[in-house]
Parts: sequence; structure tokens; C-alpha cells
Amino acid sequence: MRHLYIVGACGSIGRQTLDIVRNNKEEFKVVGLAVGSNKEIAVKLIEEFKPEVVCFKEGYVYELSYKPVIFVGDKGLEELAAYSKYEDEVFVNALVGMSGIMPTVSAIKAKKTIALANKETLVAAGDLINDLVKKYNVPLVPIDSEHSAILQCLTGESKKEVKRLIITASGGSFRDKKREELIGVTKEAALKHPNWSMGAKITIDSATMMNKGFEVIEAHHLFHIPYEKIDTILHKESIVHSLVEFNDGTIKAELGSPDMHTPIAYALRYPHHLQNESDNLDLIGLNLHFEELSDKRYPCLEYAYLAAKKGGIYPAILNAANEAAVKLFLLDKIEFLEIEKIIYDEITNKKYETISYTLENVVSISLLVIKEILKKFGVD
Ligand code: NDP
Ligand code: MG
Repeated sequence: MRHLYIVGACGSIGRQTLDIVRNNKEEFKVVGLAVGSNKEIAVKLIEEFKPEVVCFKEGYVYELSYKPVIFVGDKGLEELAAYSKYEDEVFVNALVGMSGIMPTVSAIKAKKTIALANKETLVAAGDLINDLVKKYNVPLVPIDSEHSAILQCLTGESKKEVKRLIITASGGSFRDKKREELIGVTKEAALKHPNWSMGAKITIDSATMMNKGFEVIEAHHLFHIPYEKIDTILHKESIVHSLVEFNDGTIKAELGSPDMHTPIAYALRYPHHLQNESDNLDLIGLNLHFEELSDKRYPCLEYAYLAAKKGGIYPAILNAANEAAVKLFLLDKIEFLEIEKIIYDEITNKKYETISYTLENVVSISLLVIKEILKKFGVD
């Protein structure tokens, strides 16, 4: 029996994680849930799973029919992550944005296995998280479908024999538009992803291709492969979730329906494949396409490599600037194409060069960058 603590439980990944639990009751017990602002979903999930620890979001504390241990707010997320009573504990991080960093740190220190959907944690603080993972000797297992695929392709292989990782990209909601057609695109159109149903931020990140840039950084930290050996490719069908090419020309790939239940289930029971309700992939009639992913069409991808290669605090700045810009776009404060401009201005700003790369700085500078960008557009 694995004991689960799920933060971001009401979101897209959180709810799909709970679907897996529902279908595998003998495998998992939910011990902790951190819920968001949606009262209906939050109360329903807590009452269904009756976790012994609950964390409510600041300002969104709800009445319950029983008395769990209660934590509140961002500090509460860290307390829930630190709570530990059982042998085999898994911390599922399904928060969105930089709010995922410190709870992950707490969970590592509590020696929980980390099942990570919150890619922003590795983008902003990858080396620091890896140091902690090593120090506390905990498994860090990705939920992101591309990284789940790469993990499976690398199983049993020697990293020295890897020629390159190839991360596939669906192209996001505007993949059939030329750059000049992106002027004035609406939030509603950006939120319509052709293949995946996901939270708002990652759907916008997919449209700008920053999501793929983040995934390159995520892959670097998860698999310890240099950036020169991490490529991306456009694959509209989202059936091949990613590939690994080896020195002898062999390419291994992982295929499946575009359904996050599968990589979530794999992360929860790694390295085992659980029974799950996902659609089986019908190989007959499959028609797969691969195309070059152009930096010119998607500059955010280039910016991610740029920030990653600069290193230090810069990937955290990339993440923070993106977080603020996406929020502004979702609030109708800026145009879609201004997102990339805001990010570029921050990652090329030399003022961050003197800031040392520590966990405290990653968190405080990220918060500051987000606040300052929002303020420029009149948002508190
Ligand atoms: P959602 O927006 O659907 O869910 C995020 C949840 O986290 C929301 O319920 C939100 O609550 C909650 N939350 C955020 N901040 C806090 C906080 N400070 N305190 C308490 N609750 C908080 O996001 P997704 O599930 O789509 O994505 C989660 C992560 O997984 C992201 O990092 C994303 O990049 C990654 N990911 C997602 C995939 C997907 O298919 N959705 C695929 C691969 C990776 P509230 O609504 O109140 O803000
Ligand atoms: Mg992904």
C-alpha cells in the first residue's frame, strides 16, 4: 500500500491522480490532500477520500463532516509535505507555477518519493532540487508524459550510449497558424488545445511553446543529459510521447493515447504498469507525422535554451517572467505576442547576473519578478 499526499488535488492532474486511486483502491491510500479555491470540487474530493491531513488555500477554508489535521496557505502546503507517518509515502505535486517549489523541498526532506507534475520546480530550481534528492536519497519520478516516455526508454540503458533525447511537441492551439496570424488571437482560442485537456497555464505555455522549452530543462535535470543532446520535434498526433536515440542509430520510443492517466499511474507505481482505464491505442491505421520545430515560429523555445545555458538564476527568471506574462494574457491585459517579449526582456537583463543561485534567492527573486511585471500592467 502506497500512501499518497496530493497537492493541487482539484486541478487537471490532481483529479486524474484521484481517478487512478479510485480504480486501484488496494494499491493506494490518500493520506493528504491540498485543495484549491473551487469549493464544490474541494469538499467533494475531501469527503470522498477522507484524508487524515488537509491543506486549504489561503482564504478558502471549508466546513467538513469530520476533523482531519488542517493546514492553511503556502506554509500549509509545506507542512502537509513534511507530515510523515507511514513507510511508503508518495508526494504528488500537481500545483501549477512556482508555488510548487517549497512543498517539493519539504517532501524531499521528509523522504517521500516525489511524483512530479509541477515542472516549474525543476525549471526554476533544478540543480538545487537534484542536490536535495541526492542528499536525502529519494526517488524523483516525472508525471509529464514526455519525461515518462524518456524514463521508460532509458530503463536498462547506459546514459553514455545516448546520442540524444527527442522530445515531441503537439504544437499547441495555434500550430496551424503562421506567425503573422498570431496578432490579436484571443484567450479563448489559445485555451483550446487540439489534443490534451489541461489547466489554463500549461495550455497557454503549449501555445507559446514555452512548455516545450520547460520540458527541455526538465529533461536535463531529470536525466542528467547535456542541453546539446536534447532536441524537440513537432508531432501533431501526440501518440509518440518522446524518443531516445542511441549511438548505434537505434531509436526507442514510447507510444500511447494522449491521456495523462497513463503517465500518472506509471509515476505512482514506478516501475510497474498498473491496470488503468485509458483508451487502448489501436495501431492499425495509425498515421504518424514528424516535422521540424522552428525557433523562428516559436521564439519561447529558443529563450528557454538561452536561459538554461546562461544557468544560475536565469531559468528561474525565465519561469517567473513567463508566469507573470501568462497571467496578464489570461486577464486580457496583454496580447498573445507580448508574452514572449516580456520573457525576452527579463532573461536578457544583466541585473540578475550578480544574484547567487540559492533556494532562498530562487523563491524571493521569482516572487519579485512576478510582482514587478504585474505592477507594470496595473495588476496587484
Ligand atoms: P490546474 O490549473 O488544472 O491545477 C492546479 C491546481 O493547483 C489548481 O486546483 C489550483 O487551485 C492549485 N493551486 C495552485 N496554486 C496553489 C496554491 N498556492 N495553494 C493551493 N492550491 C494551489 O493545473 P494542471 O493540473 O494542468 O497542471 C499542474 C502542473 O502539472 C503544472 O505544473 C503543469 O505544467 C503540469 N502538467 C500538467 C499536465 C496536464 O495535462 N494538465 C501535463 C503535464 C504537466 P486554484 O484553482 O484555486 O488556483
Ligand atoms: Mg508534457
